[in-house]
Amino acid sequence: MSPADGHMASSGSELSASVQRALGDVFKAARGGGVPADRPHLRVVIDREPQLVAWQAQKYDKPIIAVVADSSFITGTFERILAQAPLLPSSLAETQQFLSVRVASSDGRVLFASSPDWSPYHVERALDDDLAGLRLSVALNPSAAERLVIGGLPRDRLPILVGLMLLTAALVAAGMFQLRREHELARLRADFISGVSHELRTPLAQIRLFGETLLLGRVRSEAERQRSLAIIVQESQRLARLIENILHFSRSERSAVSISAVPTRLDLLLHDILDAFTPLATSKRVTMIRLFDDGLTAPVDAAAIRQIMLNLLDNAVKYGPAGQQLTISARYHEKVARVTVEDQGPGVAPEDAARIWQPYYRVAAHAQATGGTGIGLAIVRQLVDLHRGRVWVEPRESGGARFVVELPDAALAEDSTEWPQAVARS
Ligand code: ADP
Repeated sequence: MSPADGHMASSGSELSASVQRALGDVFKAARGGGVPADRPHLRVVIDREPQLVAWQAQKYDKPIIAVVADSSFITGTFERILAQAPLLPSSLAETQQFLSVRVASSDGRVLFASSPDWSPYHVERALDDDLAGLRLSVALNPSAAERLVIGGLPRDRLPILVGLMLLTAALVAAGMFQLRREHELARLRADFISGVSHELRTPLAQIRLFGETLLLGRVRSEAERQRSLAIIVQESQRLARLIENILHFSRSERSAVSISAVPTRLDLLLHDILDAFTPLATSKRVTMIRLFDDGLTAPVDAAAIRQIMLNLLDNAVKYGPAGQQLTISARYHEKVARVTVEDQGPGVAPEDAARIWQPYYRVAAHAQATGGTGIGLAIVRQLVDLHRGRVWVEPRESGGARFVVELPDAALAEDSTEWPQAVARS
């Protein structure tokens, strides 16, 4: 290119319009003295294909000589640069390719790619106008990131935040639930203590009253004396049962209670229990009907069965009307001994049928009308569970409640002497 008039002559292929425009700019700049002459200059021109123009401005009036290189030269240039000046120390880059480099034109056409893989973890910079605004990007290979970035690539924190919030909400809910339960339990325990005190006071007052009457000789007849004595015995039995229940319950709260089940004549054991209960039933004019299968046996703990039955019978008398009829049955059915206690009381509403077995739980209407501790049925359930049996309450067709206890591994003994542990009828 002549510095005098900007005339251009070229060897090789004809210069494209963009290259000619670029060289025209060079000429103007050289004439104005704006281009230092001591070093070569480079410019990338993008026509259809990118081309590289390199020239050296000359002093005075000497022609300006430029070299124009086509795109394959440019690609080769990038490869050479990467080979000569690696982005990472060779000790790191040797085993795995960490980084990929891409060069694209300003309109997004990829001119060079060091590898076919690409990753979302990349940065991009636009080069200046002389280099046609080429866009240079470097991407990090995700599988190599663990080795390169301490602690791995940062992950999206939203799931962790949402998870933490959910966890916090769940913990708060659990805490509130626990707090409510503790409140409820504290209230039930307070009711329990006042129930126990009341239950202890009533039989004690009776014993004292009839004891004093006897002591002071205020009884008018032998029959009255007998009645007073019967009441004292009966009330002291009630006291003993109550204390037994409380002791059993506190034992079971502290440690696991166990039973020792031995094959037992259940019909005889039940006769025995009902006989002992008769004075209390009679005092409320309650009659008891017994429907037992003869020779019914099952592996049971006699003391536990006694406690189960007395709790059920006590409830039947307590919640049912005076003069009612109780039906107590013990039947054999497919290796199961089924013992039922039926009363003519108010029955248990379906919504209470599951809850009455919980410790301290008392049906509100009954709690006001009758004394109690709310642990009787909890003990019944625990003892039945220890026998691997089942217990539930169901409504009777004719009104009242039917409490059912099922005990497994039952049999009908032909000969009662087979069972040395059988409880003799008292
Ligand atoms: P307590 O009798 O000391 O209240 P229990 O655990 O024995 O405690 O009974 C729990 C509740 O079940 C009683 O408060 C009562 O409301 C109800 N219940 C128990 N037995 C009967 C029954 N035979 N008829 C009606 N309700 C009953």
